[in-house]
Amino acid sequence: MAILPSTFTGSPRHMHEYAQDAMTYVRAYGRPDLFVTFTCNPTWNGIKELLLVGQSSSDRHDITARVFKQKLKCLMDFIIKHHVFGETRCWMYSIEWQKRGLPHAHILVWLINKITPDQIDQIISAEIPDKHIDPNLFDVVTKNMIHDPCGAFNNNSPCMSDGKCTKRYPRKLVSDTITGNDGYPLYRRRSLEDGGKSVVLKVRNIDIEVDNRWIVPYSPLISKTFKAHINVEYCYSVKSIKYICKYVNKGSDMAVFGVGNVAAPLDEINQYQLGRYISSNEAVWRILSFPIHERHPTVVHLVVHLENGQRVYFTADNVRARALVPPATTLTAFYSLCQDDLFAKTLLYSEVPNFYTWNASTKKFQRRKQGKAVEGHTNLYSSDALGRLYTVHLNNTECFYLRLLLINIRGPISFQDLRTVNGQLCATYRQACQELNLLENDAHWDTALADASNTARPQQIRTLFAIILTTCFPSNPKDLWKKYKDYMSEDILHRLHAANQKSGHSIHTKRV
Ligand SMILES: [Zn+2]
Repeated sequence: MAILPSTFTGSPRHMHEYAQDAMTYVRAYGRPDLFVTFTCNPTWNGIKELLLVGQSSSDRHDITARVFKQKLKCLMDFIIKHHVFGETRCWMYSIEWQKRGLPHAHILVWLINKITPDQIDQIISAEIPDKHIDPNLFDVVTKNMIHDPCGAFNNNSPCMSDGKCTKRYPRKLVSDTITGNDGYPLYRRRSLEDGGKSVVLKVRNIDIEVDNRWIVPYSPLISKTFKAHINVEYCYSVKSIKYICKYVNKGSDMAVFGVGNVAAPLDEINQYQLGRYISSNEAVWRILSFPIHERHPTVVHLVVHLENGQRVYFTADNVRARALVPPATTLTAFYSLCQDDLFAKTLLYSEVPNFYTWNASTKKFQRRKQGKAVEGHTNLYSSDALGRLYTVHLNNTECFYLRLLLINIRGPISFQDLRTVNGQLCATYRQACQELNLLENDAHWDTALADASNTARPQQIRTLFAIILTTCFPSNPKDLWKKYKDYMSEDILHRLHAANQKSGHSIHTKRV
């Protein structure tokens, strides 16, 4: 078996880590406030000025990459340092490339003071500005923020699939912004009678009057500053986050399959290389070592393993030494820390990175030397770093229960200590969980499904549910089914819905 590890930038495992880290932010701080998509504009002056005679921007991906990198830095500073939307708590972005090669960044922003629904109109607009009041903004919006009229105007538009616009344009005209339905709010899009504006566009040499139904939501301030396609959306419900995270961490678009020997070993590296598609712009970006993902604050990954179950790398020469003294992990280092640091004994495993840094070479946690001084303690500083315990599959029963203990018990000093309840050493971690009443009800199955609903595909959630039913004997499976059936059936409903639309039936698929 050949694994392409998460340390390889852009690999599926790498992308999966991002999604999990994004969920760590969500667990700590709730939904993000804003979802921003920033697309490179090849007509920026900064690009045009540098082109040689006869060149177009698509000839010089080195220039577009460099300029976009600078603009993205400016935009992030605008949001993070200059607080245009208010003080930020955390942020992350990922860069993707469109088929034709231009990069765009998906940015998630969490604010310290959450945006309330009545503030949306001050930040986001989905309307054509008044040409006479703000001609500059009118220019930017009509050039960059109109969804190219599709459907009856242009059935071959790339957004069209099965005769419908996949981006749901044209949108409904509404006189006021509405929140409350799942996902994105309905932004104010006033009709012409209600004072909305319109603009005449040429589509395939025909003049078309475009009104507010076709405007992609934007922030007037940011659009005017950066003069590009910058879609700004307000995140309303937690449900929308899964889609956003998937968006932020989507990965490559190509699929590969092969016909071979049934017993052929899994080779992720080969699979990845076969299915990889890199445009010239992405290639330049990567050659210049520009990041494709950045975020703040740090998420520290914490391993979870059974006693002597950590991963150990060895060669023929050092196998003996390694087996005698296996290297410490964040988990064994946590036990050692709790043995001689009184403050650490008050902490959960996931809270350790808040106050301690992980030294990868000495394999020890060390007290932070900088940050916010913790009241009542000398030489103790806290930071905004977050700890994330790796998830453990339910099939890995004992390890799963060990993890459950780790998220509930403060300051354990050893594996034995972790499963000692009221002075009694339990034979298994499961038994310890039972003694501590952590298994009294279906709460942890509920948590497992809730976690999966946020991050996994419907098919994966179904598999998980099946495993819970067959191996974990929840006391009330029906309630779990009711609570999560929508997540488990999303893809099936979607398919049925599409099929019904094609055949003209209008069955209420929600009831299937
Ligand atoms: Zn469309």
